[in-house]
Amino acid sequence: MDDCLFCKIYGGEISSEILYKDDYCFVIKDINPVAPVHLLIIPSVHLAYLQSFEVEDFKILNSMYKVAIELAIAEGVSESGYRLVINQKRDSGQQVSHLHLHLIGGHNLAGIG
Ligand code: AMP
Ligand code: ZN
Repeated sequence: MDDCLFCKIYGGEISSEILYKDDYCFVIKDINPVAPVHLLIIPSVHLAYLQSFEVEDFKILNSMYKVAIELAIAEGVSESGYRLVINQKRDSGQQVSHLHLHLIGGHNLAGIG
């Protein structure tokens, strides 16, 4: 999609270190981390809102969660704990409409969100 930050990162128009990539999604570090571990798991195709998902799109979401769980282990937060967040629309504070899953961990998040 034109003028989408995450599509531009995926397409290489905006440079960002891609930490992981598979057929469904890619992973970058959040530019403004709220915790020592803050990664974004992002579908390679432009998906926006969960309410519009088709069956095939849920396969992508499933894969994104699997990647997030594996990354939590790789980043060393699977035992200490972590949070997986998808923001949707205005009241969530969503900034980028291209769907993404936040993996947040590495310090105590109790009381935050
Ligand atoms: P959300 O508020 O759920 O839409 O999350 C968007 C996230 O993207 C925020 O946590 C931002 O810090 C992050 N972000 C914005 N621009 C970039 C970028 N160029 N590279 C990595 N993360 C970014
Ligand atoms: Zn996009």
